[in-house]
Amino acid sequence: MNDRRYDLAIIGGGIVGVATASSLVARPGLSVILLEAEPELARHQSGHNSGVIHAGLYYRPGSFKARLCTQGRDELYRFCREQEIPHRRCGKLVLATDENELPALEELESRARDNGLDGVVRLDAEGIREREPNADGVAALWVPQTGVVDFARVTRALARQLESAGAEVRTDSRVVGIRRHPRELTLETASGAVRCSYLVNCAGLQSDRIARLSGFRPDVRLVPFRGEYYQLVPERRELVRGLIYPVPDPRFPSLHPHHRRRGRGRTQRGPGAAP
Ligand SMILES: Cc1cc2nc3c(=O)[nH]c(=O)nc-3n(C[C@H](O)[C@H](O)[C@H](O)COP(=O)(O)OP(=O)(O)OC[C@H]3O[C@@H](n4cnc5c(N)ncnc54)[C@H](O)[C@@H]3O)c2cc1C
Repeated sequence: MNDRRYDLAIIGGGIVGVATASSLVARPGLSVILLEAEPELARHQSGHNSGVIHAGLYYRPGSFKARLCTQGRDELYRFCREQEIPHRRCGKLVLATDENELPALEELESRARDNGLDGVVRLDAEGIREREPNADGVAALWVPQTGVVDFARVTRALARQLESAGAEVRTDSRVVGIRRHPRELTLETASGAVRCSYLVNCAGLQSDRIARLSGFRPDVRLVPFRGEYYQLVPERRELVRGLIYPVPDPRFPSLHPHHRRRGRGRTQRGPGAAP
């Protein structure tokens, strides 16, 4: 253990940990260290998601989610431009395949309006085929502010900024123990002990474990699901031009399996949810 004591340690080098550290390191005089278990950043959810920059369509108008999603979308597009991170504002199609889905599609359209989304339009069957010639539906919403990016690249770019601002980013440093003293904490990690005054837990699906390591007894436990994707065979990948989503099914509120045309000639369908 070296003698240095950090004001703040952040556990987790996914996009949440790196973004949290970036905003805190901006405060003058605060020493910050970020600890990541893996040899690289963004090796879990942040590097294995669908890569969609959400426009802010689904969330209840006025809610935190609605406000943060629309604000975060604009900040992310700006960050990608400034950092020259490849991204595409490709838009997405939310497709109703039968009449029963029309009320939910109307509700989405009204949320899009209330959440201030630009350029959302309702399409009929012909309009759908103009956007996605192989999609078949009774109606759809076209959401032009949706985009795609590689979130691992975004995470790495944020981490570079973090280091330039004076923070330390330490990989291969899984936190395995937390000792609490009257005025500080000692974090036992795979790369040695770290002393800090405050700790922010951004360990993603392991954050309940970190809470328990630090002596809390949270009355919630994370039940992780793995997202699985299928890849269309090469001779079928042209079936999809951009992003095609279903109308959300209220029975599975957080699951939005979709088709996405990715770079390097791949087209994916997913994610599913495997316990
Ligand atoms: C299948 C799927 C698809 C998704 N698609 C999208 C999408 O298209 N668009 C979108 O905006 N969001 C999407 N999401 C959500 C998004 O990916 C997550 O909200 C986001 O990545 C969470 O980031 P995180 O930093 O909290 O978690 P993670 O990226 O999982 O990071 C947590 C980090 O903590 C580290 N860690 C854990 N324990 C320790 C420890 N003891 N010591 C040190 N480090 C530790 C892990 O190694 C990991 O790197 C998707 C999620 C899933 C699962």
